[in-house]
Amino acid sequence: MTRNIGLDVPPPDSECNDPNCPFHGVLSVRGGVISGVVLSSKMQKTVVIERTFEKRVPKYERFEKRRSRIHAHNPPCISAKEGDWVRIAECRPLSKTKSFVVVEVVNNDRA
Ligand SMILES: [Zn+2]
Repeated sequence: MTRNIGLDVPPPDSECNDPNCPFHGVLSVRGGVISGVVLSSKMQKTVVIERTFEKRVPKYERFEKRRSRIHAHNPPCISAKEGDWVRIAECRPLSKTKSFVVVEVVNNDRA
């Protein structure tokens, strides 16, 4: 059984029994959806996502590069790897640092 999570993402190919999976568990997603690159998948069911963005500096009328790292839950049915470009959706806080969950691996040819 795959639930409709209310986002325009393809359902994962495999199933899992993780309660914190938005597709096969009871976790609901709401809030923001962002994309980034998986920096590390060494933790169990957690990945570190890095997002780069540009912030305008009014004094110099230029943009500076900024980056942020976000921890996200990685359900077994998605199992994103290092180097994957993924989309993550905001959910309830799953741990001290996790309040996002991976909902789609967009491509993995960067690996
Ligand atoms: Zn799942």
